[in-house]
Amino acid sequence: MLHVNENYARIKPTYLFAEIAHRVQEHQKSGNAGRIIRLGIGDVTEPLAPAVVEAMHKAVDDEAGRENFHGYGPEQGYQFLRDKIAEIDFHSRGIDIKPDEILVSDGAKCDCGNIQELFSVDVKVAVTDPVYPVYVDTNVMAGRHNIELLKCGKENGFVPSPAGCDADIVYLCFPNNPTGAVATKAQLQEWVDWANAGKKLIIFDAAYEAFIRTEGIPHSIYECEGARTCAIEMRSYSKTAGFTGVRCGYTVVPTELYAYASDGTPVSLKAMWTRRQTTKFNGASYITQRGAEAIYSPEGMKQTKDIIDFYLENARLVREALTSLGYEAFGGVDSPYVWIDVKGSSWDFFDKLLKEANVVTTPGAGFGEAGEGFIRISAFNSRENVLEAIDRISRVL
Ligand code: PLP
Repeated sequence: MLHVNENYARIKPTYLFAEIAHRVQEHQKSGNAGRIIRLGIGDVTEPLAPAVVEAMHKAVDDEAGRENFHGYGPEQGYQFLRDKIAEIDFHSRGIDIKPDEILVSDGAKCDCGNIQELFSVDVKVAVTDPVYPVYVDTNVMAGRHNIELLKCGKENGFVPSPAGCDADIVYLCFPNNPTGAVATKAQLQEWVDWANAGKKLIIFDAAYEAFIRTEGIPHSIYECEGARTCAIEMRSYSKTAGFTGVRCGYTVVPTELYAYASDGTPVSLKAMWTRRQTTKFNGASYITQRGAEAIYSPEGMKQTKDIIDFYLENARLVREALTSLGYEAFGGVDSPYVWIDVKGSSWDFFDKLLKEANVVTTPGAGFGEAGEGFIRISAFNSRENVLEAIDRISRVL
């Protein structure tokens, strides 16, 4: 008999966004729906920066001729992109990350989901609650059911402390999805010290790093002393440069990072991740990587920064509107997400905004128990739609 991986039966049966899509569809079928404005799923709406488009067009021309044609590239990513990442994302901030410690991929979701393959099924994993569901579900699929939840609420400013955490691996994401919270350097340093003291690992998801504008907030876990021996970092161009449909990101695994075999022998995680990627992944496309390289050109940096500033202004408008309606709003400053205390059930509030204002948000309960009582509003939309959504929300609340 063909047996299935029964761990799959232990993940929540409907993925959050599938349930939202279902409710939106039902609302549309009811015949009472007007024009729907989507501030739910965190997908970008602005087109690619002109510098990226130009570079990708040129790369298509390369692929169209014999002289500069590229077939399979290096699985770890082209050197031209890895060099730029090391120089601009890290060296320019005084962080020592070498190009060969950077592995380019087709986005952070795959890397966040796949990284757990490197570890024994008995390692204990901790995640924040609320959480980006990929960290949890991929560990459950692999057979790790005993996941420690680090509660993030108003009382800790949505940033957990390592005190009392006895996991081997912790997933941290700042700026955070869904709460929009950022962690200070001192808070991240506590986690780094915790990890180094106990031979533990931090998986740091910096997918929203480009939204940080507040001086002093770390853009990378490697700004903390000692992080090279205890942290893996993931980055994504999805929100940084509108690459949700293009697909590109990268993972940093420093040379000094080790986990241990059962006899205590240290094993290089960089060697393991390289082996994993070169075996199971055939590289992001040449055209995509030329596009990603263009983000680091002077024009590319300016253009992508302007797009992020535009989303941040949307976030500010949403945050101010909800605050003036008497709701406590968090995030939305160094993040595209505004996290609102709705003083009641998050699915009820979601349904109210959907049915009465035709605005789609994300109920906090979908991100974990501690997300109950909140909704997430995303700033990814046109200014016109954001203003209209604010107007409609103001009328129904
Ligand atoms: N990490 C977080 C926290 C996210 O919110 C997302 C996307 O929404 C991702 C990773 C996935 O990014 P990518 O599009 O690069 O797969």
